[in-house]
Amino acid sequence: MRLIIFGPPGAGKGTQAKKVAEHFGIIHLSTGKMFRDAINEGTELGKLVKSIIDDGLLVPDQTVVDMVEETIANEDYSKGYIVDGFPRTVEQAVAFDNLLERRNESVDAFISLYATDEELIQRLLTRGEGRSDDTEDKIKTRLEVYKKETAPVIEHYQQAGMLRSVDGTGSVDEIFQRILSALPKR
Ligand code: AMP
Repeated sequence: MRLIIFGPPGAGKGTQAKKVAEHFGIIHLSTGKMFRDAINEGTELGKLVKSIIDDGLLVPDQTVVDMVEETIANEDYSKGYIVDGFPRTVEQAVAFDNLLERRNESVDAFISLYATDEELIQRLLTRGEGRSDDTEDKIKTRLEVYKKETAPVIEHYQQAGMLRSVDGTGSVDEIFQRILSALPKR
């Protein structure tokens, strides 16, 4: 099973992706976490992306796509995965389509979590993960980047008939149950 979990910053993608991954015994692939790990480890990739992430901007498409391609080529990913934080531009979505096609694979569902801006800002300011991009001005930038560059990705998957919109407000378990109900029956 291959899934994408999508939504604005603060929608709960990471929390829900982790639960979905545990539930189905698949891997949770978070591009944001991979970048943060690279920064903490001081790798070349980490050095390249640090200031971009700190500013709340997007890492170049090719860098992200190459990282995802290399990651899913790993044997561990053959049993399935849920991608969190990717694709974040229409260009990335097209590149991911092409990548999967070359691998003779496809995505089972695109889960889009939604919530109001007020709710998102409140959550980001209080989540206490100590992220350098969870400050008020960086949150504002990230929401703007989301609206301009990332939200159009929804349309891409809607056209492909894969969109499953899920209300991202309520308790973690309520949202998780909504996600399970929204998934295609197998
Ligand atoms: P996240 O943990 O998903 O909120 O990602 C944290 C940051 O990593 C984002 O604000 C971007 O700077 C960067 N990032 C993560 N995934 C992507 C992506 N698919 N494309 C571009 N930048 C990304």
